[in-house]
Amino acid sequence: MALRNKEIAVIGAGVVGLSTAISLQEEFPLATITVFADKFNDETLSSGAGGIFRPEINVYHDEERVKTWCKDSLSHFLDILKSSESSEAGIQLLSGYHLSSIFSDFKNDLVQELVPQWRLANAKELQLFPLPFKGGQFYTTPVIDCKYYLPWMKSKFERSGGKTVRQHISNLEEIPDNYSIIVNCAGLGAKDLLQDGMLTPVRGQTIVVKAPWIKNFYYADTVYIIPGKDYVTLGGIKDYGRWSMEIDLYQKQYIWDKCTQLLPSLKNAEILYDWVGLRPFRPSVRVDTSFVKLGDNYRLIVNNYGHGSHGVALSWGTAQDVKRMIRKIAMKENFTVSKL
Ligand SMILES: Cc1cc2nc3c(=O)[nH]c(=O)nc-3n(C[C@H](O)[C@H](O)[C@H](O)COP(=O)(O)OP(=O)(O)OC[C@H]3O[C@@H](n4cnc5c(N)ncnc54)[C@H](O)[C@@H]3O)c2cc1C
Repeated sequence: MALRNKEIAVIGAGVVGLSTAISLQEEFPLATITVFADKFNDETLSSGAGGIFRPEINVYHDEERVKTWCKDSLSHFLDILKSSESSEAGIQLLSGYHLSSIFSDFKNDLVQELVPQWRLANAKELQLFPLPFKGGQFYTTPVIDCKYYLPWMKSKFERSGGKTVRQHISNLEEIPDNYSIIVNCAGLGAKDLLQDGMLTPVRGQTIVVKAPWIKNFYYADTVYIIPGKDYVTLGGIKDYGRWSMEIDLYQKQYIWDKCTQLLPSLKNAEILYDWVGLRPFRPSVRVDTSFVKLGDNYRLIVNNYGHGSHGVALSWGTAQDVKRMIRKIAMKENFTVSKL
């Protein structure tokens, strides 16, 4: 299916926007695709994410659709891992523990179903930790370091002819008329752009440390330790509805205390920097299409935002859905194509 001479604008250059732009470029090689964003690479929220593939089923009401998103993402990450580009793309396959001090039967069924290796942690393993855990899972999953993954995707997109424009978009009408399809991957920015009252920040905070001896990931109740390519991220705090980008010193101490209790060797780590990011939380991830009259013309608006705590894990999957939806609309009715 070729969208000949159709121009597609993607708003957003986070993990969702760049995944979408590349997917559309692969699907519609004759279309001109431009990414409009006011932040790129390490300026984005995505760049600070732990980046672990650990999705949850409750991100959307249709469980089968969520599973399709997750399966598409996972097979994409595993394909990159098998290729010679995994290091440049910042993707590693890591094993680790997800522990609970409350639930002895603690597990994530979706993770159990999908990831390459999964099992419950046994009592002996739980006793290895200096904190009293009642239950846990041990699994192997991709960890995507967006400090590498975003620049890798951006240059792949540009090398294949994609354009990137640094611009803040206050209104969809600011996207020039020649873009007949606009794909909105603005993350939390969609709140202002579309007046979406269902989008809310869920503030996260992390401490990034140098601790090259940490080779596994650990989740323990409210904190996590995730090794990226160069650094280890200690996080992550979930403050619903809080917009502050200031480092909260109380939260910093909380993360540090909990993580060093879990892995005392972290006390020897060099602290590099603190970081705050606002997750684009929506009760339901939004992936849909509509025709909207902007000025004199109708344009196809495709939304792909509101991935909350799971944007890295879901990114390639929801991008495939966007691709399928545009292909279906373009193929379905000639009138739609000529109207575009
Ligand atoms: C501490 C923390 C840890 C996390 N860990 C994980 C994890 O382990 N696994 C996981 O899957 N997820 C994780 N997440 C969640 C993940 O970071 C997000 O779901 C994901 O980054 C959302 O990506 P996005 O592309 O939608 O948004 P963003 O990265 O915010 O990108 C939005 C893009 O849109 C652009 N934009 C927005 N508004 C406008 C506008 N009006 N005009 C122009 N451009 C605009 C921005 O410039 C940016 O380029 C974590 C989040 C936090 C805070």
